[in-house]
Amino acid sequence: MAKEFELIMDRIKEAQTIIIHRHVRPDPDAYGSQLGLKRYLTLKFPEKKVYAVGETEDSLEFMGSPDDISDDVYQGALVIVCDTANAPRISDGRFNLGKHLLKIDHHPPTDQYGEVNYVDVTASSTSEIIFDMIDYFNDVTMIDQEVARLLYLGIVGDTGRFLFNNTTPHTMEIGARLLNYEFDHMNALNQLAEKDPKLLPFQGYVLQNFTLNDKGFAKVQITSDVLKKYQLVPNEASLFVNTIADIQGLKIWVFAVDEGSEIRCRIRSKGIIINDVANDFGGGGHPNASGVSVRDWQRFNELAEALDSKL
Ligand code: AMP
Repeated sequence: MAKEFELIMDRIKEAQTIIIHRHVRPDPDAYGSQLGLKRYLTLKFPEKKVYAVGETEDSLEFMGSPDDISDDVYQGALVIVCDTANAPRISDGRFNLGKHLLKIDHHPPTDQYGEVNYVDVTASSTSEIIFDMIDYFNDVTMIDQEVARLLYLGIVGDTGRFLFNNTTPHTMEIGARLLNYEFDHMNALNQLAEKDPKLLPFQGYVLQNFTLNDKGFAKVQITSDVLKKYQLVPNEASLFVNTIADIQGLKIWVFAVDEGSEIRCRIRSKGIIINDVANDFGGGGHPNASGVSVRDWQRFNELAEALDSKL
C-alpha cells in the first residue's frame, strides 16, 4: 500500500490543479475524506489550486461546501475520487475530464476506474485512509484542527460512533490522535447527530411499522403515501435506517424508500455478509452495510426474500 501512496503523492506533486470528487448521496465520510484531503493538500501545497466538487447534502452543510468550477478547470488537472467504489456513483460526471484520475476508497473494489487505485477494505472509512496517508508522509504535525474535525467526523459517521464492527484498534488510535487537535468535538458530534424536530413523528412511524420475523429479518417499507403524510423527501426518510438497529433478535434489515422512479434499499446486518445479495440485485457496498435501488415493490419483495434466506 505504501507504493500506492507514493504514486498518488507523485501525481499530486506534478499537478497544478487538483479536483476532488466523492460519491452521490454524500455521507459524513464522503464529505470528511474529500474536504479533509482538500484542506491537507491546501496546507501542504499552498501554490496549487485544490477544489472539491459534488452535489450537496443539506444536513452536512456544517462540514463544508463544495466548489463551483467550470469545465475548463479540468484541463490538465489531477482528479482524485474519494470513497466511491464504482464510476457510476461518482458525484459530478466530469470526473474523467482531467489528465489523470486516482481513486482512494475503502469499499470492496468492484470497479477500479483510477490509474492508481488505493483501496483498503480493512479501513473503517476513507477518512481513516486519508489520515494514514498524512501519517505516512510525516505530515501529522502540519495538519490543522479543520483537517482533524473533518476526518474525525468521517470516521465517526462510517463507524456509527465507533460502534460498528469496522472499528479496529487502528481506527480508535486514529480517533485518539485526531482528538489531540483543538476542535470542538462535542459540538461537531452534536451537529452530526441532530435531527430536525419535524422528522421525529416519522421516527415514531418507523418504530411502529417495521416487521421482524422469527429468524431475525426485518423490513421497513416507506411508500410515497407515507412520505406525503409526514411531509418528507426520500433522503430525509432514508436517514432513519438505524432506527430499528437495537431491536432484540435483529440480524438483517432492509430500509426501503420510494424515490419515485425507483426504490432505494439500504441494507444492514449484524455479522452476516449481505453485500453478495446487494451485488446480485445490481447494488453493492460493504459486507454489513450495503445498498441497492430496485425498480418496484415486487422486485423489493424478491430482494427481501433473498436477504431472509441468508438466515
Ligand atoms: P447506504 O445505505 O446508502 O449508506 O449504502 C451503504 C453502502 O452500500 C455504501 O457505502 C455504498 O457503497 C453501497 N451502496 C449503496 N447503494 C448502492 C448502489 N445502488 N449501488 C452500489 N453500491 C451501493
